Amino acid sequence: MRKPLIAANWKMNLTVKEAVRLATSLKQKLKKVKNKEILLCPSFTALQEVNKAIKNSNIKLGAQDVCYKDKGAYTGEISPKMLKEFGCKYVIVGHSERRHIFNETDNIINLKLKNALKNKLNPILCVGETLTERKSNKTKKVIINQIKKGLKDVSKKDMKNVVIAYEPVWAIGTGKTSSPQDAQKSHNTIRNRINKIYSKGISKKIRILYGGSVTPDNSKELIAQPDIDGSLVGTKSLKAQDFSRIIK
Ligand code: PEP
Repeated sequence: MRKPLIAANWKMNLTVKEAVRLATSLKQKLKKVKNKEILLCPSFTALQEVNKAIKNSNIKLGAQDVCYKDKGAYTGEISPKMLKEFGCKYVIVGHSERRHIFNETDNIINLKLKNALKNKLNPILCVGETLTERKSNKTKKVIINQIKKGLKDVSKKDMKNVVIAYEPVWAIGTGKTSSPQDAQKSHNTIRNRINKIYSKGISKKIRILYGGSVTPDNSKELIAQPDIDGSLVGTKSLKAQDFSRIIK
């Protein structure tokens, strides 16, 4: 049985004070939630204070990105060790905004993912097609390619710590959600590919989250799909009321 994971990606939206206020409110609202993993991914600057705010709660901390190197002359970068210092357990890699705005390649994403694993941080690998790719029936090809390249040289043993997020680019922050059936199709493609690359056992255990305009109204139908194991939530994770409704 896969434990659902509901992750909040706050992106570059909240000051430290705002992030702490939101985390504190979520801690209160979600204190009775069991059997689900709850994750907050604030900006780097808010990690330390959010970590303090969620102490002794059922909420975990993650980061939105990580460097593929551990230390050295990499101005502006944050290493996995630095994230762990602040209590991070997870890190998002290959978010579509990193891929498309900051030109991150599959190769860079693969290096980041492997560096996270090496440092005992659980990576959430994001994959998903653009609208143009979808319209030209390339969805399956694109996501398989991103999975293959993103997981290149990742061992079977390390796969138990990997989470995948299917996030169609056209659905992120647009209010346009994938239908549960279409999302299920892509999730199934991903699970089958994991089976092909690794094993049936690993494909059955890996969690595949859906992301892209998840709301309190559409989340129930999405998570009811057999291959959807949680969600990565952007916009609707910025309000305690919305995010806690999605989780519940
Ligand atoms: C995201 O940023 O990963 C995301 C899914 O955003 P939104 O929920 O706003 O579409």
